[in-house]
Amino acid sequence: MTKAVASLGRPRVGVLAVQGAFAEHARALAAAGADAVEVRAPADLGGLDAIVLPGGESTTLGLVAEGSGLLAALRERIAGGMPALGTCAGMIVLARATTGGAQPLIGGMDIVVRRNAFGRQVASFEAPVSVPALGEQPVDAVFIRAPWIEEAGPGVEVLAEHAGHGVAARQGDLMVTAFHPELSGERRFHEWLVGRARDRRDAADEGGRRRDRVGAQ
Ligand code: GLN
Repeated sequence: MTKAVASLGRPRVGVLAVQGAFAEHARALAAAGADAVEVRAPADLGGLDAIVLPGGESTTLGLVAEGSGLLAALRERIAGGMPALGTCAGMIVLARATTGGAQPLIGGMDIVVRRNAFGRQVASFEAPVSVPALGEQPVDAVFIRAPWIEEAGPGVEVLAEHAGHGVAARQGDLMVTAFHPELSGERRFHEWLVGRARDRRDAADEGGRRRDRVGAQ
């Protein structure tokens, strides 16, 4: 099979569906050229090229996923290089720690986050946020009891700030947003993830062909 043919298949991108939003992420992924797959158990991670960790309630999400073994499986896949996009509660579970103390996390990104950081009084709001890495057009960002990035390690690129606090960041193939890009029709974060998924799949195909060639010798 040539590389061009191998690339025709749409990448498979999981959306963690134990708690929180699935449908809007699936729609954004489909628009970006991927097949979205619901992830509820460790077995659902098989054959995925990337994953979205959606918003919701990070304590519930972590506890439910821990109970099924999914949290440990995700930790292993993400440590192994699987690209991931974490939005809001998804950003919290990808952090190495929260300021509020212990809760089950996946980790992977060298950030410390503050939960419900914008205050419970103004629990939700919408604001234009400039994300230069994605282009000139600001993101129409929907914040819902959102966290912010309190600390970021040297390997982390903070991509956007709101009210003086980091609200989007990238580290290698991991991207996080404190807001919900999927709720305003914003597609660029999902397009980035699908691009990473496609590259990873192409690299795996290339590795497989190399092994086949070596095996045939
Ligand atoms: N406040 C939630 C938490 O701390 C996150 C909210 C969200 O995902 N919209 O887990």
